[in-house]
Amino acid sequence: MNSRKVEFSIINRKELSPSQPNSVIVVIDTKSEEIFENPTTGHQTRRRPTQVSPPFLIDINLRSSSHDHIRTLLHDRLVGYPWGCLCDILATKVSTEAINLGFGRNGFTLTMTVTVTYQTVFVTSNVEKSLRMVLLGRVKAEELKSLKMDTESCSICLENLSDPKLIHVTRMTCSHVFHNRCLLEWLKRKNTCPLCRTELYD
Ligand SMILES: [Zn+2]
Ligand SMILES: [Zn+2]
Repeated sequence: MNSRKVEFSIINRKELSPSQPNSVIVVIDTKSEEIFENPTTGHQTRRRPTQVSPPFLIDINLRSSSHDHIRTLLHDRLVGYPWGCLCDILATKVSTEAINLGFGRNGFTLTMTVTVTYQTVFVTSNVEKSLRMVLLGRVKAEELKSLKMDTESCSICLENLSDPKLIHVTRMTCSHVFHNRCLLEWLKRKNTCPLCRTELYD
């Protein structure tokens, strides 16, 4: 699922003497954000947004505070960018600011940023999460030996951890170790470590 979030912020607004022109600078910043949603709980985990392309700026000289005039100016400057519908929102903002800054009575300078964040929501099932986690924590036989855990047993099935039939083991973030197979079965029902009950994921 994709959506788009648009945010504005004014960096600088200043009234100038009546003879000076009205200059507007708009810095356009595009970001991409990934959101992971748990289908059962609806809980969302967000990754920090990443920059899509370097910010670019346009500067325009306002001769009118009318929406149409501003929209046309923006549109001309943004030809080739997928910004058509944003021009409307942006024009409204600029027009309001221009009027507040006393358009017609004095000159002004206005600098604003518009950040467009493209959001993608991934719905990840618990099974996928469990699988990823079990694979991430996988411990090799030699490693198990060096941890002196090769003689210990899996507390889910009580068999030896280094049983050759159940060779793959996983060390959880809480540092407890189980057979992969046993852990996957367990995680289908519960979201906690079988031993210490640490919560494993959201
Ligand atoms: Zn086991
Ligand atoms: Zn644990």
